[in-house]
Amino acid sequence: MIQIKSAHEIKLMQEAGRITAAARAAVGALVAPGITTRELDEEARKVIEGFGATPSFLNYNGFPYSLCCSVNNEVIHGFPGKYKIKEGDIVSVDVGACYMGYHGDCADTFPAGKISAEAERLISVTRQSFYEGIKMAREGQRVSDISHAVQTYVEKHGYSVVRDYVGHGVGSRLHEDPEVPNFGNPGRGPRLAAGMVIAVEPMVNEGRFGVSTLSNGWTVVTKDGKLSAHYENTILITGGDPVILTQPPER
Ligand code: MG
Repeated sequence: MIQIKSAHEIKLMQEAGRITAAARAAVGALVAPGITTRELDEEARKVIEGFGATPSFLNYNGFPYSLCCSVNNEVIHGFPGKYKIKEGDIVSVDVGACYMGYHGDCADTFPAGKISAEAERLISVTRQSFYEGIKMAREGQRVSDISHAVQTYVEKHGYSVVRDYVGHGVGSRLHEDPEVPNFGNPGRGPRLAAGMVIAVEPMVNEGRFGVSTLSNGWTVVTKDGKLSAHYENTILITGGDPVILTQPPER
């Protein structure tokens, strides 16, 4: 069932979103050759806890970290660890924070030092596909209008969208109804209404859309070994333009 959030819940979700976005920005600012992904995880946790919130991902279905850190051909759910980031890597960070019982969820893909022009293009198409998608995130549209807009934009640029993982509602649970796929025909799925909060999160592959899971049971990688990028914000549906609850802070 899709929850319509009350004004009070929306207030808390705005705060959760602000904290989550601050953690993403702090981690993103550290992405550079030489840092380990474990240090990025520690930074995410430190920032979230500094706001009096808790990392949403830590122990979620047994996930052992505060941050998902997915490098190069890793799509999502990368484990932070002793890997030292190298010049030219692209590093997707996905972070969630829970504040007063409500979650925020957001992701971005950051370059480590100088990256290839192709990697840069993949990151920018992924990010823009989110903005193309949320043009449809308006009261009265259907969920798959977002999906279709994301897919159309991504494929127009020669990339593919991951099918096996999708966006979702967000609230007092990290993952709620509805599912928000990044692909599909328009005009399907639930109708969007003011007070719904959803995470729109294109996962875009440089090559084909097929993915597989590593032996740790979590980390999703591209089957063809090519790059993948991720961009996500938690948004509020309103009577007008959607509001990005995890808006990147001004620099
Ligand atoms: Mg998400």
